[in-house]
Amino acid sequence: MRKERTSAGHDSAGRFLRQWRGLAKAGLFALPFPRSFGGAQRPLPETALALEDLGRRRGFDGLSLSVGAQMWAVQAPLAEFGTAEQKRRFLEPLCRGRALAAPAVTEEEAGSDVLGMKASAEPRGSGWRLSGRKSCVTTAPLADFFLVWTRLPGRQGPMSLDCFIVPRRTRGLSTSAFRWELGPAGARSGTVTLAGCDLPASARLGRECQGLAVFLRAMSWERRLILAPAVGAMESRLESAARFARERRQSGRPIAQNQAVAHRLADMKIRLEACRAFLRQACLDAEARDEALSAAVKAFISEAWVANCLDAVEIHGAAGCRDAGLRGELGAALASRVMSGTNEIQRNLVASRLGLR
Ligand SMILES: Cc1cc2nc3c(=O)[nH]c(=O)nc-3n(C[C@H](O)[C@H](O)[C@H](O)COP(=O)(O)OP(=O)(O)OC[C@H]3O[C@@H](n4cnc5c(N)ncnc54)[C@H](O)[C@@H]3O)c2cc1C
Repeated sequence: MRKERTSAGHDSAGRFLRQWRGLAKAGLFALPFPRSFGGAQRPLPETALALEDLGRRRGFDGLSLSVGAQMWAVQAPLAEFGTAEQKRRFLEPLCRGRALAAPAVTEEEAGSDVLGMKASAEPRGSGWRLSGRKSCVTTAPLADFFLVWTRLPGRQGPMSLDCFIVPRRTRGLSTSAFRWELGPAGARSGTVTLAGCDLPASARLGRECQGLAVFLRAMSWERRLILAPAVGAMESRLESAARFARERRQSGRPIAQNQAVAHRLADMKIRLEACRAFLRQACLDAEARDEALSAAVKAFISEAWVANCLDAVEIHGAAGCRDAGLRGELGAALASRVMSGTNEIQRNLVASRLGLR
């Protein structure tokens, strides 16, 4: 696993990698994946519970974001589309926690419009030459390899995309890091630049022009499960807000005795239980086949989470406005409406399922 070489951020990168290894040791990255490639082949609901527990203990921070991006947008498509050799070389080390990987789809000018991406893959000899720049890539500064989506030059439409496994050490690949002003605390995201990266034919994941299918499957997994830790974070937040409401006194009595405050807490509980039930229900489909259901889960949990954070701020009054943890959680919740595709895009998918688009 890569060590960040810059001195700036070295400590936090070291801490991130130590925490990552801790999760690997606990077997988190192996949970739902096939035993033949380092996985534990456990049922999906068990994986969701483990991720919820992660969020309950630490909130939804940069570590949870990186875990979700890797497990659902890299490991899951590798397990589904990878050749036996690709699974052995790339999936197995991820399951065992010996490597770290990230999905690279978004570009400055192509976010929601995935088919508008400009990064290209041109046939070159027996392999491919990749060029372009990906933005917003989770764990970009630390990943050992990336799943990179590209377009065939001169082609448009659903059959124009390919997906490649691109190791960091590939000549011509470079990354840079940035910090989200509104997003999961400590997230290590950045850009990935491909300046004429030559790859062998074996680097392509899936068949030629199957990139969109790989992307849609990756998103079906990611949208369903990436916010499982947020459900855990919502539970911790409800507990701390209820404790505050019982302890904080105004007009000679705990503020929890005001129905307006108690109802806010009740609303937080109702949203939490609805999110949990929706997630559990969605996990019963072990293959995450229904893309519209995945879209609905992601939109529902992210919006319920924002609502719960806003209620928590109100319950805490000025103390809420001074609470860095609450501010950070609200930022992460707002970003969760955008990540894995904005909630407008999720609604487009649900509307398509209803035959409306
Ligand atoms: C925390 C975080 C982590 C991320 N991690 C990754 C990652 O690991 N890898 C990666 O590749 N990307 C990642 N992303 C990028 C993310 O997928 C994109 O930000 C997202 O798809 C939206 O693209 P955009 O930001 O370009 O917004 P735009 O597409 O420019 O959208 C701007 C606004 O226009 C609306 N809009 C656009 N098109 C439509 C439409 N057709 N119908 C209705 N409304 C529309 C959007 O809903 C939004 O409100 C991450 C983003 C965040 C915030």
